[in-house]
Amino acid sequence: MSRPLKKHLELEGLFGADFLPLSKTAKRPSKKPARHPGPDISAWGWPSEYLAFREEVLDCRKCGLCATRTQVVFGVGPLSTPLLFVGEAPGADEDVRGEPFVGRAGQLLTSTLKKLGVERHRVHIANILKCRPPDNRTPQPDEMQACLPWLQRQIDTIRPKVLCAMGNIAAQTLLQTKTGITRLRGRYVEAMGTRIFPTFHPAYILRNMGDLPLFEADLRTVCKETGLLEK
Ligand code: URA
Repeated sequence: MSRPLKKHLELEGLFGADFLPLSKTAKRPSKKPARHPGPDISAWGWPSEYLAFREEVLDCRKCGLCATRTQVVFGVGPLSTPLLFVGEAPGADEDVRGEPFVGRAGQLLTSTLKKLGVERHRVHIANILKCRPPDNRTPQPDEMQACLPWLQRQIDTIRPKVLCAMGNIAAQTLLQTKTGITRLRGRYVEAMGTRIFPTFHPAYILRNMGDLPLFEADLRTVCKETGLLEK
């Protein structure tokens, strides 16, 4: 701190001031990152009821994450798809872009599908939570409880042949179990009115590339089962 400023502060202190007003031109640090306009949803021809449902979700204030999110990450993809991927919650990239799985983990999901011959725009992608938890912390039970009815409505609308739950949080929440993903993965289980196939989360694969062949094999299984790939 400069000497004149120190002196000025001491003087202000003598008159009882314990703060100084910020200059009007001083830039306040912005707390939230700039908001991207969000994914182009026009390609999927969603009907008006589903667009109205989306608007409702975009305004959601059912839990505390509405105070810290940049925007709601609703989900992307056609409603007529046989395959729905569900992850945990948006991360920093998704929070800014308004689209699930667009960061590093998302790029691995997209490239693995592409390697199999399935373009990302042919599947639906969503999360357990529609808003990013601060610092990417694990979703809290009350947040998941508040958010799950939105996902249930998406499942009931899409009626996928297979819901591929990626990672511990998605699989354990949807299957209401504490069993870990390593034991759950690779088998179909009925829950939430649909057929669920748990697999690893792509973010886990990024940290454990040795398990990439298992992730690829799981994606091949669900793509074949849903007819996106020939058996
Ligand atoms: N991880 C998730 O679980 N979901 C995303 O959308 C991105 C990263």
